[in-house]
Amino acid sequence: MNDCLFCKIIKKEMPSNIVYEDEEIIAFKDINPAAPIHILVIPKKHIEKVTDINTEDEAVVGKIYTVINKIAKEQGIYEKGFRVIINCGEDGGQQVKHLHFHLLGGKKLGPKIVG
Ligand code: AMP
Ligand code: ZN
Repeated sequence: MNDCLFCKIIKKEMPSNIVYEDEEIIAFKDINPAAPIHILVIPKKHIEKVTDINTEDEAVVGKIYTVINKIAKEQGIYEKGFRVIINCGEDGGQQVKHLHFHLLGGKKLGPKIVG
């Protein structure tokens, strides 16, 4: 857990461009954006991936979606729409092993959800 990149961002040991933070959740700009708006929304608790979400995490996972709505409003993409993606595990293409929700928008995204 100590070498988790996103835990380091949470602890401010790594620089990031934070757009939202509360006691349970932090959101920051993706370093390699795939769309004009590309923000990662993550729980501060180190949950490795979707399949590690437990019943005790249901509240924070639910709250992430209301945080996403708040960020979408602030970023001006609430009305036109956006995409939320979570990659899980090897076949899901997950690179960073700390649960993160990709919030993507700012242009009309392509029709494909699988590359
Ligand atoms: P995934 O492939 O779903 O694990 O997504 C990992 C995402 O983290 C990628 O979109 C990366 O561009 C992004 N990323 C990696 N390192 C950083 C960092 N230091 N700050 C912000 N985003 C990062
Ligand atoms: Zn972590």
